[in-house]
Amino acid sequence: MTQAATRPQLAHLTAILNDLRAKGTHFKLRVLDDQQAPVCRYDGKQVINLASNNYLGLANDPRLIEAAIAATQAFGVGSGAVRTIAGTMRIHMELEEKIARFKNVEACVVFQSGFAANAGTVSAILGKDDFILSDELNHASIIDGARLSRATIKVFRHKDMVHCEQLLHELADAPGHKLVITDGVFSMDGDIGAVDKLAALAEKYGAIMMVDDAHASGVLGRNGRGSVDHFGMHGKVDVQVGTLSKAIGSLGGYVCGSKDLIDYLYHRARPFLFSTSHPPSVAATCIEAFNILEKEPERIERLWANTRYFQGELKRLGFNIGGVNTPATETPITPLIVGEGRKAMDLSRALFDEGVMATGIAFPTVPEGKARIRMILTSEHTRGELDQALETLERVARRMGILG
Ligand SMILES: *Cc1c(COP(=O)(O)O)cnc(C)c1O
Repeated sequence: MTQAATRPQLAHLTAILNDLRAKGTHFKLRVLDDQQAPVCRYDGKQVINLASNNYLGLANDPRLIEAAIAATQAFGVGSGAVRTIAGTMRIHMELEEKIARFKNVEACVVFQSGFAANAGTVSAILGKDDFILSDELNHASIIDGARLSRATIKVFRHKDMVHCEQLLHELADAPGHKLVITDGVFSMDGDIGAVDKLAALAEKYGAIMMVDDAHASGVLGRNGRGSVDHFGMHGKVDVQVGTLSKAIGSLGGYVCGSKDLIDYLYHRARPFLFSTSHPPSVAATCIEAFNILEKEPERIERLWANTRYFQGELKRLGFNIGGVNTPATETPITPLIVGEGRKAMDLSRALFDEGVMATGIAFPTVPEGKARIRMILTSEHTRGELDQALETLERVARRMGILG
């Protein structure tokens, strides 16, 4: 027998869900019936997929699938323990060495996810007497890590260097350690973090500099080396976080930096110490993905060509893809700003019915009044697919009065 309906103890949750329903921002999960591909089936319906982070098509690349199968046959399906007990497999070390070489740093540690990498690192390297200077649009995993550290959190206005410097200046005589932290690419607007300017500020005030390159990994810099490479800031950023879950196509997060940083995280980062390591198949797929990044830069070129084409056409049609009251995208992340939450969710649903998958995003993920659908291009979308998506976007938006 299934459990009875919600008991009174949890009735407050039902009230909040009802509130979301009234606002039109309650959602149901879309279920993918096949592979994460440019055209695929969600909830039994074939759609052009503009919602995934599978930037380079690696999530279903045959070579990665092959690597996962081979590693599973050789090493089994699970690692059997946390890294510090008995769960460090040879293939975990190989992946970390591979990433460190790729990023041109001394050392690397892989976490179970990008979220765990950020939250685990920020909370490990700072304590209650320290200070964190964080961009207001930084990712939730940074915010949670900052809270867990119990350091004092100072939020600076988005990419506002004057504000950030003012805060650093105010703290100049405070004894604690200071950390300046930014996303390399902001996940909801697609603009690039001011890694160069912030690193210079951090240098000037003796602060630690950290970048979260989740959406920059495999997208920005030579062969997708990320924002530090994009800005030529090698050696100026103390902590580089990347994800293995987006362009790399698999799952995980990593931290790159000095040998001592990584050794310290081995000893103090709680997700590393208290949560089981990746299955060998995950490490094997990531190793193969980095091989492909090194060998096939043309994937990244295709990604950017698709981005330029699609965003150019959206602007020509008169869509607001950011840049007025929201940051302007500089990457394949393509927000289509609608304003009201309900309207964004309605647009997303109408597009789905017409064969285009584009996620609606509302408060609290983005500020009130700046709801949007967010689309992400991949290297694997064909021009024909993009044209069909554009035609649908134009037709549906006109019908709904979003486009004049
Ligand atoms: C997606 C994302 C993460 C989390 O990465 P996962 O590997 O999915 O856990 C962290 N930071 C940013 C900016 C992200 O967009």
